[in-house]
Amino acid sequence: MSFRRLALGLALCLLASVSFWALWEYVKNWLPVFSYEPFYLPCPELFNIKLQYREGKPFQPVARSQYPQPKLLDQRPTQLLTLTPWLAPIVSEGTFNPELLHQIFQPLNLTVGVTVFAVGKYVRFTQSFLESAEEFFMCGYQVHYYVFTHDPAAIPKVQLGPGRFLSIVPVQRHSHWEEISMRRMETINQLIAKRAHQEVDYLFCLDVDMVFRNPWGPETLGDLVAAIHPGYFSVPRQQFPYERRQVSAAFVADGEGDFYYGGAVFGGQVAKVYEFTRGCHMGILADKANGIMAIWQEESHLNRRFISHKPSKVLSPEYLWDDRKPLPPSLKLIRFSTLDKDSSWLRS
Ligand code: UDP
Ligand code: MN
Repeated sequence: MSFRRLALGLALCLLASVSFWALWEYVKNWLPVFSYEPFYLPCPELFNIKLQYREGKPFQPVARSQYPQPKLLDQRPTQLLTLTPWLAPIVSEGTFNPELLHQIFQPLNLTVGVTVFAVGKYVRFTQSFLESAEEFFMCGYQVHYYVFTHDPAAIPKVQLGPGRFLSIVPVQRHSHWEEISMRRMETINQLIAKRAHQEVDYLFCLDVDMVFRNPWGPETLGDLVAAIHPGYFSVPRQQFPYERRQVSAAFVADGEGDFYYGGAVFGGQVAKVYEFTRGCHMGILADKANGIMAIWQEESHLNRRFISHKPSKVLSPEYLWDDRKPLPPSLKLIRFSTLDKDSSWLRS
């Protein structure tokens, strides 16, 4: 008798708990969704705490003008900045100690790559580019030049210092100069994927129609490096020649942009340059699919990308100058500059 009672009691208990569980599962679906947001819900005790130091004194807002205010920059300063608003150094003479940097970087046994394109008539610039690089570019470091050309036999033999290498990489000669210039992003990206990621630590991608005139050293090394365009370092942002057509992947809205960077110099840690060139190439491909070309070709895409992927180091126009411009007093020296060239003949 007692055994039957016990069994009945247990069965009832089981039935009751199963019913409760089923009821709970049913009701739970109808409860309003409650998300636990501990960071946004203040502890109830906080409401009871009184701000002692204001007691009795009504809050008096202090006039804005009584606080020191940042100076409004309605005009760009003529003096070069040394730090970007996102705290990337802007490298120029006097902002770094070359001996100290050499002591830090020399033991790291780094190899610095350089990509340079010499296609068509631009082959003629290779000699002065390489000779001046041997004199000034990353002296005392291992350097690997990658010269892209349609005509490997035309690349002059330049005497290279110890630890310095040159690879000639054959490329197709596209008929339009814009295409040659724009295809660089894709070609550099493929070079990194194929071999450069194993051969170099840092990579600079440079124009060939330029020469080195003063030392370019480890002060330029960083994750992602951009150079301020010599034509726009003292110009208000509204006048930067960004791509302004919304249909382009290089579109930059009026309120956007930090500096206008030159397409002739960029670089960084090799994996970062891989990502960077990939992104730029994607934008160029998207434009191609839509049948448009950005106003300043790959430079427009480079500028677009540097807005969303900020450079970790910015080179002042010392590192990207144009010999056709008068030298402003703020520039103490020129390290790398465009030769005075006959563009219409070169591109014909
Ligand atoms: N380039 C080339 N052959 C060409 C056009 C361009 O090799 O027919 C390469 C070359 O390295 C050159 C770079 O692409 O320095 C960019 O072109 P360019 O110097 O004419 O552009 P700019 O500096 O005048 O904007
Ligand atoms: Mn150039």
